[in-house]
Amino acid sequence: MADAATTVGSVVRPTIAAAGPGTSPASQPTLVSGDDDRTVVVLLGPPGAGKGTQGEHLAAALGIPKVATGDVLRAAVRDGTTLGREAQAYMDRGDLVPDAVILGIMKDALTQPSTARGAILDGVVRTVPQAEGLQAVLDHLGRVTTIVLVFVIEDDVLVRRISERTVCDSCQTPYTGHHTGDPCPKCGGRLVRRTDDEPQAVRQRLVVYHAQTAPVITWYKTHGVRVVSIDAIGTRDEVQVRVLRAFSR
Ligand code: AMP
Repeated sequence: MADAATTVGSVVRPTIAAAGPGTSPASQPTLVSGDDDRTVVVLLGPPGAGKGTQGEHLAAALGIPKVATGDVLRAAVRDGTTLGREAQAYMDRGDLVPDAVILGIMKDALTQPSTARGAILDGVVRTVPQAEGLQAVLDHLGRVTTIVLVFVIEDDVLVRRISERTVCDSCQTPYTGHHTGDPCPKCGGRLVRRTDDEPQAVRQRLVVYHAQTAPVITWYKTHGVRVVSIDAIGTRDEVQVRVLRAFSR
Protein backbone atom coordinates (compact mmCIF):
# COMPACT_ATOMS: atom_id res chain seq x y z
CA MET A 1 0.00 0.00 0.00
CA ALA A 2 1.24 3.48 -0.79
CA ASP A 3 2.35 5.55 2.17
CA ALA A 4 -0.17 8.18 1.27
CA ALA A 5 -1.90 10.68 3.46
CA THR A 6 -5.18 11.91 2.06
CA THR A 7 -6.58 15.09 3.50
CA VAL A 8 -10.02 16.24 2.53
CA GLY A 9 -12.75 17.91 4.54
CA SER A 10 -12.61 19.37 7.99
CA VAL A 11 -10.81 17.61 10.79
CA VAL A 12 -10.46 18.40 14.46
CA ARG A 13 -6.80 18.28 15.39
CA PRO A 14 -5.00 18.15 18.68
CA THR A 15 -2.29 20.75 19.07
CA ILE A 16 1.28 19.65 19.60
CA ALA A 17 3.53 21.13 22.24
CA ALA A 18 7.27 20.52 21.99
CA ALA A 19 8.64 18.30 24.75
CA GLY A 20 11.55 19.51 26.83
CA PRO A 21 15.13 18.40 26.33
CA GLY A 22 16.26 15.05 27.65
CA THR A 23 13.00 13.24 27.03
CA SER A 24 13.02 9.95 25.17
CA PRO A 25 12.20 10.03 21.44
CA ALA A 26 8.92 8.30 22.14
CA SER A 27 7.79 10.99 24.55
CA GLN A 28 8.28 13.91 22.17
CA PRO A 29 6.39 15.69 20.87
CA THR A 30 3.75 15.83 23.60
CA LEU A 31 0.22 15.86 22.30
CA VAL A 32 -2.26 18.12 23.98
CA SER A 33 -5.91 18.02 23.03
CA GLY A 34 -7.47 21.45 22.67
CA ASP A 35 -10.39 22.33 24.96
CA ASP A 36 -13.10 21.80 22.39
CA ASP A 37 -11.48 18.88 20.58
CA ARG A 38 -13.54 15.77 20.29
CA THR A 39 -10.95 13.62 18.67
CA VAL A 40 -12.04 10.34 17.11
CA VAL A 41 -9.08 8.28 15.94
CA VAL A 42 -9.69 5.05 14.03
CA LEU A 43 -6.85 2.52 14.16
CA LEU A 44 -6.78 0.04 11.29
CA GLY A 45 -4.30 -2.72 10.61
CA PRO A 46 -3.89 -6.48 10.67
CA PRO A 47 -3.75 -8.50 13.90
CA GLY A 48 -0.40 -8.15 15.65
CA ALA A 49 0.48 -4.84 13.96
CA GLY A 50 0.72 -3.07 17.33
CA LYS A 51 -2.58 -1.15 17.29
CA GLY A 52 -3.28 -2.02 20.92
CA THR A 53 0.11 -0.92 22.28
CA GLN A 54 0.26 2.22 20.18
CA GLY A 55 -3.39 2.97 20.91
CA GLU A 56 -2.68 2.87 24.67
CA HIS A 57 0.14 5.34 24.28
CA LEU A 58 -1.87 7.65 22.04
CA ALA A 59 -4.82 7.53 24.43
CA ALA A 60 -2.54 8.61 27.27
CA ALA A 61 -0.96 11.33 25.11
CA LEU A 62 -4.33 12.73 24.04
CA GLY A 63 -6.02 12.19 27.40
CA ILE A 64 -8.93 10.26 25.91
CA PRO A 65 -9.88 6.60 26.35
CA LYS A 66 -9.09 3.74 24.01
CA VAL A 67 -12.00 1.56 22.98
CA ALA A 68 -11.11 -1.91 21.66
CA THR A 69 -13.96 -4.16 20.56
CA GLY A 70 -11.61 -7.15 20.94
CA ASP A 71 -11.16 -6.30 24.64
CA VAL A 72 -14.90 -5.79 25.14
CA LEU A 73 -15.64 -9.15 23.49
CA ARG A 74 -12.93 -11.04 25.40
CA ALA A 75 -14.26 -9.64 28.68
CA ALA A 76 -17.77 -10.76 27.68
CA VAL A 77 -16.46 -14.25 26.91
CA ARG A 78 -14.68 -14.42 30.27
CA ASP A 79 -17.82 -13.23 32.07
CA GLY A 80 -20.01 -15.71 30.17
CA THR A 81 -22.52 -13.06 29.12
CA THR A 82 -24.96 -13.45 26.22
CA LEU A 83 -22.67 -11.26 24.11
CA GLY A 84 -19.71 -13.46 25.01
CA ARG A 85 -21.55 -16.67 24.17
CA GLU A 86 -22.61 -15.21 20.83
CA ALA A 87 -19.10 -14.00 19.95
CA GLN A 88 -16.85 -16.79 21.16
CA ALA A 89 -17.07 -19.24 18.24
CA TYR A 90 -16.39 -16.48 15.68
CA MET A 91 -13.41 -15.28 17.69
CA ASP A 92 -11.89 -18.72 18.23
CA ARG A 93 -12.03 -19.40 14.48
CA GLY A 94 -10.49 -16.02 13.65
CA ASP A 95 -13.67 -14.81 11.95
CA LEU A 96 -15.38 -11.48 12.44
CA VAL A 97 -18.25 -11.14 14.88
CA PRO A 98 -21.42 -9.97 13.03
CA ASP A 99 -21.64 -6.26 12.24
CA ALA A 100 -24.85 -5.78 14.24
CA VAL A 101 -23.09 -6.93 17.43
CA ILE A 102 -20.17 -4.56 16.83
CA LEU A 103 -22.47 -1.63 16.03
CA GLY A 104 -24.18 -2.13 19.39
CA ILE A 105 -20.83 -2.03 21.23
CA MET A 106 -19.74 1.02 19.22
CA LYS A 107 -22.92 2.96 19.99
CA ASP A 108 -22.74 2.08 23.64
CA ALA A 109 -19.06 3.13 23.92
CA LEU A 110 -19.47 6.44 22.10
CA THR A 111 -22.45 7.55 24.14
CA GLN A 112 -20.64 7.07 27.47
CA PRO A 113 -19.58 10.26 29.30
CA SER A 114 -15.99 8.93 29.30
CA THR A 115 -15.79 9.28 25.50
CA ALA A 116 -17.47 12.69 25.31
CA ARG A 117 -14.11 14.34 24.55
CA GLY A 118 -13.07 11.68 22.07
CA ALA A 119 -11.79 8.14 21.75
CA ILE A 120 -9.15 6.00 20.14
CA LEU A 121 -10.98 3.22 18.32
CA ASP A 122 -8.74 0.15 18.18
CA GLY A 123 -9.97 -2.59 15.86
CA VAL A 124 -13.50 -1.25 16.18
CA VAL A 125 -14.00 -0.77 12.42
CA ARG A 126 -13.29 -3.88 10.39
CA THR A 127 -15.85 -3.88 7.58
CA VAL A 128 -17.37 -1.26 5.30
CA PRO A 129 -20.83 -1.63 6.96
CA GLN A 130 -19.11 -0.95 10.32
CA ALA A 131 -17.46 2.20 8.88
CA GLU A 132 -20.89 3.32 7.66
CA GLY A 133 -22.42 2.47 11.02
CA LEU A 134 -19.76 4.42 12.91
CA GLN A 135 -20.29 7.40 10.65
CA ALA A 136 -24.03 7.28 11.36
CA VAL A 137 -23.40 7.19 15.12
CA LEU A 138 -20.94 10.09 14.89
CA ASP A 139 -23.33 12.09 12.65
CA HIS A 140 -26.02 11.61 15.26
CA LEU A 141 -23.64 12.91 17.96
CA GLY A 142 -22.50 15.84 15.78
CA ARG A 143 -18.97 14.49 15.57
CA VAL A 144 -16.57 13.41 12.83
CA THR A 145 -13.74 10.94 12.42
CA THR A 146 -10.61 13.02 12.95
CA ILE A 147 -8.05 10.70 11.42
CA VAL A 148 -7.53 7.09 10.39
CA LEU A 149 -4.16 5.52 11.14
CA VAL A 150 -3.33 2.41 9.11
CA PHE A 151 -0.60 0.19 10.55
CA VAL A 152 1.27 -1.37 7.62
CA ILE A 153 3.25 -4.59 8.08
CA GLU A 154 3.85 -7.75 6.05
CA ASP A 155 1.97 -10.96 6.85
CA ASP A 156 5.08 -13.08 7.48
CA VAL A 157 6.38 -10.58 10.07
CA LEU A 158 2.99 -10.70 11.77
CA VAL A 159 2.84 -14.47 11.89
CA ARG A 160 6.27 -14.52 13.56
CA ARG A 161 5.31 -11.72 15.96
CA ILE A 162 2.04 -13.33 17.00
CA SER A 163 3.69 -16.73 17.51
CA GLU A 164 5.87 -15.04 20.16
CA ARG A 165 2.94 -13.29 21.86
CA THR A 166 1.52 -14.25 25.25
CA VAL A 167 -1.09 -12.46 27.34
CA CYS A 168 -1.74 -12.36 31.08
CA ASP A 169 -4.88 -14.36 31.91
CA SER A 170 -5.56 -11.91 34.72
CA CYS A 171 -4.73 -8.31 33.69
CA GLN A 172 -4.69 -9.04 29.90
CA THR A 173 -1.34 -7.32 29.31
CA PRO A 174 0.24 -8.69 26.10
CA TYR A 175 3.94 -9.67 26.02
CA THR A 176 6.56 -10.85 23.57
CA GLY A 177 9.70 -12.67 24.69
CA HIS A 178 7.94 -14.53 27.52
CA HIS A 179 6.68 -18.12 27.63
CA THR A 180 3.24 -19.51 28.38
CA GLY A 181 3.08 -20.42 32.07
CA ASP A 182 5.46 -17.61 33.10
CA PRO A 183 4.17 -15.23 35.79
CA CYS A 184 2.95 -11.83 34.55
CA PRO A 185 5.63 -9.23 35.38
CA LYS A 186 2.89 -6.71 36.07
CA CYS A 187 0.38 -8.53 38.28
CA GLY A 188 1.73 -12.04 38.90
CA GLY A 189 -1.05 -13.68 36.83
CA ARG A 190 -0.27 -16.53 34.41
CA LEU A 191 0.82 -15.90 30.81
CA VAL A 192 -1.21 -17.82 28.23
CA ARG A 193 -1.63 -17.84 24.45
CA ARG A 194 -4.88 -16.39 23.12
CA THR A 195 -6.93 -19.09 21.37
CA ASP A 196 -7.07 -16.90 18.28
CA ASP A 197 -3.27 -16.52 18.31
CA GLU A 198 -2.90 -20.20 17.38
CA PRO A 199 -1.44 -20.51 13.84
CA GLN A 200 -4.67 -21.71 12.16
CA ALA A 201 -6.70 -18.83 13.59
CA VAL A 202 -3.97 -16.28 12.78
CA ARG A 203 -4.00 -17.36 9.12
CA GLN A 204 -7.78 -16.96 9.05
CA ARG A 205 -7.58 -13.52 10.71
CA LEU A 206 -5.16 -12.36 8.03
CA VAL A 207 -7.42 -13.68 5.25
CA VAL A 208 -10.32 -11.83 6.86
CA TYR A 209 -8.25 -8.65 7.23
CA HIS A 210 -7.29 -8.52 3.55
CA ALA A 211 -10.80 -9.39 2.34
CA GLN A 212 -12.96 -7.34 4.70
CA THR A 213 -10.90 -4.71 6.51
CA ALA A 214 -8.52 -3.50 3.78
CA PRO A 215 -11.50 -2.09 1.75
CA VAL A 216 -12.31 0.12 4.76
CA ILE A 217 -9.15 2.14 4.00
CA THR A 218 -10.48 3.00 0.54
CA TRP A 219 -13.88 3.78 2.03
CA TYR A 220 -12.39 6.38 4.37
CA LYS A 221 -10.29 7.93 1.61
CA THR A 222 -13.30 8.31 -0.65
CA HIS A 223 -15.34 9.77 2.22
CA GLY A 224 -12.99 12.68 2.84
CA VAL A 225 -11.34 11.44 6.02
CA ARG A 226 -7.61 11.93 6.51
CA VAL A 227 -5.87 8.54 6.25
CA VAL A 228 -2.23 8.17 7.31
CA SER A 229 -0.20 5.01 6.82
CA ILE A 230 2.18 4.11 9.65
CA ASP A 231 5.14 1.82 9.04
CA ALA A 232 4.56 -0.67 11.87
CA ILE A 233 7.94 -2.38 11.64
CA GLY A 234 10.43 -1.22 14.25
CA THR A 235 10.69 -0.83 17.97
CA ARG A 236 7.72 0.36 19.99
CA ASP A 237 9.40 3.76 20.43
CA GLU A 238 10.12 4.12 16.71
CA VAL A 239 6.52 3.39 15.82
CA GLN A 240 5.30 5.75 18.55
CA VAL A 241 7.23 8.61 16.99
CA ARG A 242 5.63 7.87 13.60
CA VAL A 243 2.18 7.81 15.19
CA LEU A 244 2.71 11.17 16.91
CA ARG A 245 4.05 12.66 13.67
CA ALA A 246 0.75 11.85 11.99
CA PHE A 247 -0.77 14.56 14.20
CA SER A 248 1.73 17.25 13.28
CA ARG A 249 0.84 18.80 9.96
P1 AMP B 1 -8.64 -8.12 18.36
O1 AMP B 1 -8.31 -8.23 19.79
O2 AMP B 1 -8.89 -6.71 17.92
O3 AMP B 1 -7.64 -8.82 17.47
O4 AMP B 1 -10.03 -8.89 18.15
C1 AMP B 1 -10.16 -10.25 18.47
C2 AMP B 1 -11.36 -10.83 17.75
O5 AMP B 1 -12.56 -10.17 18.19
C3 AMP B 1 -11.37 -10.68 16.25
O6 AMP B 1 -10.58 -11.66 15.59
C4 AMP B 1 -12.85 -10.81 15.94
O7 AMP B 1 -13.28 -12.15 16.04
C5 AMP B 1 -13.48 -10.04 17.11
N1 AMP B 1 -13.64 -8.62 16.78
C6 AMP B 1 -13.05 -7.56 17.42
N2 AMP B 1 -13.42 -6.40 16.87
C7 AMP B 1 -14.26 -6.72 15.84
C8 AMP B 1 -14.94 -5.95 14.87
N3 AMP B 1 -14.88 -4.61 14.80
N4 AMP B 1 -15.71 -6.63 13.96
C9 AMP B 1 -15.83 -7.96 14.01
N5 AMP B 1 -15.19 -8.74 14.88
C10 AMP B 1 -14.40 -8.13 15.81
